[in-house]
Amino acid sequence: MVWLQAKGLRKSFGTNVVLDGIDLSIDRGEMVCLIGASGSGKSTLLRCLNLLEPLDDGEIRLDSVDIAEPGLDPAPVRRRIGMVFQSYNLFPHMTAAENVLLAPRRVKRMTRETLLPEVTELFRRFGLEDRMDHYPDQLSGGQQQRVAIVRALAMKPEMMLFDEITSALDPELVGEVLDVLRQLRAEGMTMVLATHEMGFARELADKICFLDRGRILEEAPPEVLFSAPKEERTRAFLSRVL
Ligand code: ADP
Ligand code: MG
Repeated sequence: MVWLQAKGLRKSFGTNVVLDGIDLSIDRGEMVCLIGASGSGKSTLLRCLNLLEPLDDGEIRLDSVDIAEPGLDPAPVRRRIGMVFQSYNLFPHMTAAENVLLAPRRVKRMTRETLLPEVTELFRRFGLEDRMDHYPDQLSGGQQQRVAIVRALAMKPEMMLFDEITSALDPELVGEVLDVLRQLRAEGMTMVLATHEMGFARELADKICFLDRGRILEEAPPEVLFSAPKEERTRAFLSRVL
């Protein structure tokens, strides 16, 4: 079932055309990976899907409702679509638990006491229950990024966007963050990732989209895209990164 359907997305910054007619459909429970050179538009595409960036043109249907219609309030959409970035941006003066409780407390206007059981359960699910009262600087980069993921999940999103969330981590910490994604995928979360982790994408993605100069030049299941890319530019990119 098509859950999210983006059609004809266009976005420029000044004269720089960054998204040049993107079409993308995502089924419920699917994991889609965006790959491509730096500057090809991956982050901008994710930000547009989450309405953090206004589109110049195009539509984004979520459950067949156009969420990108100018003038619509983006806040409810952002609650349905969680996003995690490369820089985890936890508030340094708040514990892990306080960071995670912040948005649900504001949005749902519920007390810490009411929310704590479900937040504790989230920390437990991702092996972080003994880190809830730690401050960010008492956590490793991998743990901070896992807390950032828990923070997004606390809003109970129906879909998650991840923008190169392992790129800033020391290599030995990448695995624990990828394990969280693996677990989310197994639980049926719908996910879109911009990633340089080709091995991970190959192992778990349902679909790989190769972005090139603001277009999806080629899209295919990983076993096809990685072993038999059709486009010369896809082949050139893969030969540089594999
Ligand atoms: P990627 O994530 O694939 O590296 P980006 O989406 O970050 O690509 O960037 C695509 C292009 O858009 C780049 O040329 C970048 O400089 C430009 N760009 C991205 N964000 C902005 C912005 N806020 N203002 C101006 N240019 C931007
Ligand atoms: Mg990027």
